[in-house]
Amino acid sequence: MKQLRYWHYLFQFHRNRVPGQLVIQMTDRCNALCPQCGMNTRQSFKRHHLGLDRLKTIITNAAARRVEAVSFTGGEPLLLMDDLVAMLDYAGAAGIPYIRTGTNGFVFRHAERHDFDDRMHRLAARLAATPLRNFWISIDSADPATHESMRGFKGVIDGIARALPIFHAHGLYPSANLGLNRNLAGVGSIPALPRLHSRSQAADYAAAWRRGLDRFFRFAADLGFTIANVCYPMSLGEDVDPDDLQAVYSATSVDTVVSFAAHEKKLLFAALEKAVRANRSRLRIFAPLCSLHVLRQQFEYGARGYACRGGIDFFFVDAVKGHAFPCGYRGGDDLGPFGVVDQGAAADGRDCYRCEWECFRDPSELTGPVRELFHRPMDLVRRLRRDPGFFRCWWEDWRYYRACNFFDGRRPADSDKLRAFAPQRPPEKVGRGTVTQRLRRVRTVLRNI
Ligand code: SF4
Ligand code: SF4
Repeated sequence: MKQLRYWHYLFQFHRNRVPGQLVIQMTDRCNALCPQCGMNTRQSFKRHHLGLDRLKTIITNAAARRVEAVSFTGGEPLLLMDDLVAMLDYAGAAGIPYIRTGTNGFVFRHAERHDFDDRMHRLAARLAATPLRNFWISIDSADPATHESMRGFKGVIDGIARALPIFHAHGLYPSANLGLNRNLAGVGSIPALPRLHSRSQAADYAAAWRRGLDRFFRFAADLGFTIANVCYPMSLGEDVDPDDLQAVYSATSVDTVVSFAAHEKKLLFAALEKAVRANRSRLRIFAPLCSLHVLRQQFEYGARGYACRGGIDFFFVDAVKGHAFPCGYRGGDDLGPFGVVDQGAAADGRDCYRCEWECFRDPSELTGPVRELFHRPMDLVRRLRRDPGFFRCWWEDWRYYRACNFFDGRRPADSDKLRAFAPQRPPEKVGRGTVTQRLRRVRTVLRNI
């Protein structure tokens, strides 16, 4: 079965396509307060959810089109637990191999109650009995108080720490999903990172991100997570023309906490690239270096990586009408029910780099070179010459992903394999040495030229 799947992937690459992905917003109902999201409970709009029949039709169509990955998102999917479990089973039975869902963590409240462990065992057993592959838990900060006040769920960090071993015992290894936000770079008495107005503060700004990110990955590993992922800011930013993009996935916000100007994003992605590299041996971190490398360059000098596959191989289905869109941001491009979407034509004829939605941008970068190898090998050679750094990152990503069992959330991390990705210690400083030693070093350098 696995072999057949690999042949199918090769066939897809040969057709200039990549394995498909569908993000299904089951509901826009939510019970959290997140300032970084337009679906928080403070927003007043009519809430929707997709009925089981509609969901089954979407999944059946996705399986018929050989979509490989389906994510059930919200709102908060666990508010519809019965429907969610039914759809996880349905998607697995339909033959979709990569099935994901997650939670804002509300279920981890009240860890102090005597029935907490039983409740967690029931929840973990129920999810583990489905073909669910990855289960994410959103975390916004390494500071429990900050995270809990952003989400509006007191005490959930204690609950998560207590629940993780229970989930692991049931064979489910949840991932910590970090939504990048300014509070990450400020913790406790350190205030959230303000907007960057002057170039002279750029180094401090980048250093604050790096500290915040390192602290977060350490915190997630200490809590008991074995997988982490990073959600790039879900904000259309100040540099985006609102006539060009309108979010249909209302997990976006104009709040300062997730709004960044292009010059801030450049520093943010650079810090993230370094932090991911430095923490890869600690836990399985999905965020690919090749994608971060390209995003940094995009905001540094307008470089382009591989165009996003949104509207070609990847689609978003909204909770209001159950219609497909090229992604969560192109709300003006309603493609109708997923079953009738003409996949190639939905791309609107132009390469899209208009946002940094990691769900679509990351896999587009990761699969880009393979697709190009099959379809336009000379373009690949030119790209390799132009930016060898991208390919170094790309190759390291795939080696790392292999060591991570491709982020299989049903298997524990292999710490021996991860250790191979521990950052190299900088070489010890060599003193100037005697004249003879210095001459010898010069001779070695000259010989190596
Ligand atoms: S980010 Fe998630 S949990 Fe928070 S309000 Fe939005 S949908 Fe709800
Ligand atoms: S880059 Fe991808 S996710 Fe972003 S707007 Fe374009 S198609 Fe959508």
